[in-house]
Amino acid sequence: MSPSHAKRRVIKVGSSLLVDAVGNIRQAWLATLVADIAAERAADTQIIIVSSGAVALGARRLGLEKGGRASLEDAQAAAATGQIALAGCWAALLAEQDIKAAQMLVTNEDFEDRRRYLNITATLERLMSLGVVPIINENDTVATDEIRVGDNDRLAERVAQAARAHDIILLSDVDGLYTADPTSDPKAQRVPEVTRVDARIMAMAGQGSSSGIGSGGIITKLDAARAANRAGIDLVLVSGQHGHPLTRLANEDVGTRFIAQPAASARKAWLAGRLAVRGVIVIDDGAARALSRGGVSLLAAGARRVSGAFQRGDVVDIADATGHVIARGLSEYDAGDTARICGKRTPDLADILGYAPRAALVHCDHMVLL
Ligand code: GLU
Repeated sequence: MSPSHAKRRVIKVGSSLLVDAVGNIRQAWLATLVADIAAERAADTQIIIVSSGAVALGARRLGLEKGGRASLEDAQAAAATGQIALAGCWAALLAEQDIKAAQMLVTNEDFEDRRRYLNITATLERLMSLGVVPIINENDTVATDEIRVGDNDRLAERVAQAARAHDIILLSDVDGLYTADPTSDPKAQRVPEVTRVDARIMAMAGQGSSSGIGSGGIITKLDAARAANRAGIDLVLVSGQHGHPLTRLANEDVGTRFIAQPAASARKAWLAGRLAVRGVIVIDDGAARALSRGGVSLLAAGARRVSGAFQRGDVVDIADATGHVIARGLSEYDAGDTARICGKRTPDLADILGYAPRAALVHCDHMVLL
């Protein structure tokens, strides 16, 4: 099941590209990236940015040692100081291209908790429909080790899954995956394409990041690539150390592309295997016929009854009138509210619920047919 929306791309920008050695934002370079982003949007690609650099920038502004990573308190103070400047810079440069920016700060828990996960997807979806470019970073001011994603490579992968993006571009200070460390081994060769991140590929990951100012290294990039590919999302690792990095990527043979596995099987495996099924929504024959065509959401009008004690975001089975389970997905409502709106028409839902209704009982983006 490939995403039904326009081409959607997550671009992750590493700290060393955004912040120079004396602690200033590399504005001139960033303006070339933003110009590329404007060109991609003009060609109907929706863009989501995952921006690092808050800790690095804040640490230099506050004069903190070890890049602001000497203690948790230092990192949190640096992040708080750097983030506001960083977001302001992004917003100003995007505004010069007539593009509106939005800021989202998230932690790992926001992706693990099903209700918060659905809220992230809904917010991203709304921002996309409004033509806004989200600028996303980890909420480092509250994130302690237990609840952190920890690096923005993996954060970009989680954001891409939540947004149902088509691909992820990791702009970094390494120019792709090499067979050996290119700084010390003259025989090292760039690997242009990887179809599976297996043990042989992981073994190439000795070289690390050359700058040392971000959190990620090549290992976190390969982890992100593997997870993205399993979820049906391509990931490209490429150097951002040139002006107009997206134009360069489009026109030259650079970087490493990690190719997605077929999305249908990946998503099915995730939904079928990862979470316990908490309830069942039984639907009428018309709704069953509509769902079986694929790409169709389950509306309240097509539902007949509900069983189980599920919360919003829990996995539910969808069964036809004979009890045969035909689909599985994430419920947009808890069991009580689902029961209240079973069989009801969309225009009546707000009155029954007392709040603005969701687009569906189970959205097709969060549903697999069985
Ligand atoms: N969230 C961190 C920051 O903004 C960066 C994490 C990373 O470098 O991967 O400074």
